[in-house]
Amino acid sequence: MMKKVIVIGAGISGLSAGIYALKNGFSCEIYEKNINAGGECIAWKRKGYTIDGSISWLTGVKPGTAINDVWLETGAFRNEDITFADVFSVIEHEGRRLYWYRDTDKLSAHLKELSPEDSEAIDELIAIINDLSSFEVPARKPMDIMDPAERRDHIKHMMQLFKALNKVSSLTTEEYTERFSSELIRKAILSFSFKDNLVQGVLVTLGALAGCHAGWPAGGSQRITDNMKACFLSLGGVLNCGKAVAEITVNDGRVEGIVLEDGTAVSGDYIVPTCDLDITLHKLLKSRYSDPVLDSFYTGEGFRTSSIAQVAFGVECDLSAYPSKMIYAIDEREIAGETIESVLFTNYCSEKNFAPEGCSVVKTGLTVYDYSKWYGLSREEYLRKKEEIKEAYLEYLYRFFPETKGKVVMCDVTTPLTYERYCGAYHGAYMGFMLTPATSKMYHSGIIKGLSGLYAAGQWFSVMGGLPDALVSGKSAIQRICANEGIPFSGVQ
Ligand SMILES: Cc1cc2nc3c(=O)[nH]c(=O)nc-3n(C[C@H](O)[C@H](O)[C@H](O)COP(=O)(O)OP(=O)(O)OC[C@H]3O[C@@H](n4cnc5c(N)ncnc54)[C@H](O)[C@@H]3O)c2cc1C
Repeated sequence: MMKKVIVIGAGISGLSAGIYALKNGFSCEIYEKNINAGGECIAWKRKGYTIDGSISWLTGVKPGTAINDVWLETGAFRNEDITFADVFSVIEHEGRRLYWYRDTDKLSAHLKELSPEDSEAIDELIAIINDLSSFEVPARKPMDIMDPAERRDHIKHMMQLFKALNKVSSLTTEEYTERFSSELIRKAILSFSFKDNLVQGVLVTLGALAGCHAGWPAGGSQRITDNMKACFLSLGGVLNCGKAVAEITVNDGRVEGIVLEDGTAVSGDYIVPTCDLDITLHKLLKSRYSDPVLDSFYTGEGFRTSSIAQVAFGVECDLSAYPSKMIYAIDEREIAGETIESVLFTNYCSEKNFAPEGCSVVKTGLTVYDYSKWYGLSREEYLRKKEEIKEAYLEYLYRFFPETKGKVVMCDVTTPLTYERYCGAYHGAYMGFMLTPATSKMYHSGIIKGLSGLYAAGQWFSVMGGLPDALVSGKSAIQRICANEGIPFSGVQ
């Protein structure tokens, strides 16, 4: 009889785990607390406008790379549906504009024109981006089940990253920017990250964009989720939405199944929790299992998360003449307890179905570094905070896009508490942990000592972050299960 894999959570990692479980001869049931699949990778509609909840850029879209093959195997998109912007974003400061060209020769010439005195630092930046433009996100096999030859190849592959980042790997983004005298360039680099995050993350992203490893998938976040859900169902998977898991049951050190919040017990041979790791450890496993590495994620110095208060506007005018991502440097200002120095507006005019004809949907928002300011608010305080954010960004919308005055017909605000409530995301985090010196060497297999049959996955196991890591971690969980069963894995490896 087929062995059964129970997956908890139908985000991208859960759908990936489900698809690979079925492709490898297991039966699979996914239990998702929300009424829809997708987790953080979704979109929603308000007054005829589509608000994309996740993707700015999707990494792993370059044909011929292992990560691209994983996306294709899970049916997430077709390569012909990916577009690459020639200019990734535009930063405006005191009337001057910096264009982040994907073409690094163009970028180099442009940066030198803006700031000839930074030539040396620009050459160094461009050399790093060029080196990283051929770096592929590792996606074949998790390290803990590699054989020695595979491990050697993996280390060789990762050396490309270490070599490219060699001189700057320990620097925070702010420290790195100190080598540029141009305030515009400094602000442009900082616009990709927090000041005290390692600059590695920014540079890897710029490399991925330059190398066409990252792009925009037609239809955005919801299309990716819908396609993967369809793939899972077409393989015979069972998706139970609106079914929150309350507990993982364990007998004599081995998982037996789950108990849903409505009291239903479901048995299974393997459990792959892809929900927030904090929920898995502390709610579903009742804090009964202690793993020093996982525990350090919650208690260790340097393990930080960030979140966002997203504001989307539906406007009855066409903003397609603007670059899709405009970043405006502003005087330092505090909004809802966070200090900001720039505002980013993303318009989705390239997606014709995201807004009624002649109208546009534009997204902006406040990056939230300090979750504690959202904790324990009364309903009134929460609504006041949301209103403060909305008003502040409305003011910027009118300032930078004057044609929108009187034309705003929809406004939608999500907050860290939205992500916490909707996805169960720890501290409302919108990726896993941030890239800091403490997290840069983080590695965990998702196997908890003293507990067999459980293979946790999801965005929390990596700091480079986001959708590709969620995707690969779902596959990795099934690769580990196959290794445990002694059966060959079918899929990218
Ligand atoms: C605003 C924003 C912008 C982003 N931008 C990008 C980007 O540009 N590029 C990129 O790559 N990534 C981006 N991301 C990150 C990306 O969306 C996430 O990393 C990814 O979707 C996480 O997938 P996951 O499956 O690991 O987790 P989740 O999506 O959180 O899925 C976990 C699922 O578990 C479910 N669950 C929780 N508790 C239970 C329970 N008790 N029982 C049953 N189910 C449960 C949740 O409801 C959820 O559906 C962004 C995210 C946000 C929010």
